Amino acid sequence: MSDIRWKTFWLGLGLLAVALVIWAIKGIVLALVFLCIALSLYIARLLYWLYQLQIWLRTPSLNEVPEGKGIWETVFSSLFQHQRKNIRAEAELVAALEGFKRATNALPDGIVVLNHRDEVEWCNPPAELLLGLDISRDVNQPVQNLVRYAEFINYLQSSQYAEPVIVKSIRNTETTLQIQLIVFGTAQKLLICRNISAQEKIDTMRRDFIANVSHELRTPLTVVGGFLETLLDTKDAVPDSSKGYFDMMISQTSRMRLIIEDLLTLSRIESNSESPTTSVINMSTLLTMLQNDAKALSNGKHKIHLNADETLNIKGSNDELLSAFTNLVTNAVRYTPKGGDVTIGWTLKNKQAVLNVKDSGIGIEAQHIARLTERFYRVDNGRSRDTGGTGLGLAIVKHILNRHKARLEIKSTIGEGSTFSIVFPQSRTAIKPSEEAA
Ligand code: ADP
Repeated sequence: MSDIRWKTFWLGLGLLAVALVIWAIKGIVLALVFLCIALSLYIARLLYWLYQLQIWLRTPSLNEVPEGKGIWETVFSSLFQHQRKNIRAEAELVAALEGFKRATNALPDGIVVLNHRDEVEWCNPPAELLLGLDISRDVNQPVQNLVRYAEFINYLQSSQYAEPVIVKSIRNTETTLQIQLIVFGTAQKLLICRNISAQEKIDTMRRDFIANVSHELRTPLTVVGGFLETLLDTKDAVPDSSKGYFDMMISQTSRMRLIIEDLLTLSRIESNSESPTTSVINMSTLLTMLQNDAKALSNGKHKIHLNADETLNIKGSNDELLSAFTNLVTNAVRYTPKGGDVTIGWTLKNKQAVLNVKDSGIGIEAQHIARLTERFYRVDNGRSRDTGGTGLGLAIVKHILNRHKARLEIKSTIGEGSTFSIVFPQSRTAIKPSEEAA
């Protein structure tokens, strides 16, 4: 540009100098006439090159950039460079896009790009196959009109995409699909769809195997435990020196029986694909029962408090939720030393029903918290066993909560205590009708 400025400057200066010379020799009138003619020619030339530029801009081909004269030579040469850079960048972008498309087409997972209105922008061939989409027909169509699974539509509308949703394929009932949404850019979404039928089959085999083994072990263990107790109760059947061993055998068989019962409960809950009922649970009765159970377990060693919102109820399976709540309260008592407090809270928070079980117990170190709901995960093996734990309680809680679309939140400070909170979705919350009307 500085080139253009200098060229214009020197041209203007030249014209002015010639005009001054004419003024000095021939007078001011001729000098002004000269200036007018020179400026008119200059403007005409300007208009001519602007016209050339306009023609070129209609179809800006690199081969047809006008050459230009004077300052226009610089303008067109800059345009040429700029256009060449653009074409190169465009080619690189197209190549990158093609590479990306080839890579996503090679993926076994279906990928669909949705715009901010949840309309299909693009999808790869596996997505067409798994979800029955057709990219030539379905672009700009709302995804909920194309992927018509009720579970998926609820998931899409929930805006909670941390966990994927599992659906049975409509096109092939043998196929199970896992669909996950990921938000990116400005409210766009990436839909990832995976065929998890094989993994499901393995999971079912594993569940069946554990359930069968547990079931098969239950009877012999009951028999062994029964005989041990009978022998111990029979006069002179066991010498005094061996009675200690018999006590240990009885306690170990009852521990094994507890583990087997918990394993059976877990596989029963896991293999139950039906949604829990939506009948309203009378929470006030259930919470009083829970408090009484906690008192019985504590045997006067702890203070058990109950702070409940009497107007708040919940829809779900009474038995399953009682089992989940009991697990949390039992743990609170078991992991709180004598003289401590256990508080059961039942309240509405952000339109969601929340059950809090707070204790002033031993607490849990932060690194263990994420793994507590894994089967047999224990922070302290000895303590769990001594207090009659199987290591399966929180795994059972997690599965019951999954079935009710609820989540477990754990906060804990070592030496100060823990709070286990169950947060129910709004859809499962029920306010007592009379209170609601008031
Ligand atoms: P367990 O039968 O061993 O108690 P759970 O699945 O119920 O098994 O709990 C898993 C582990 O979580 C326990 O072994 C214990 O270390 C820890 N835990 C659970 N609840 C509490 C609590 N309220 N306070 C401290 N630790 C807890």
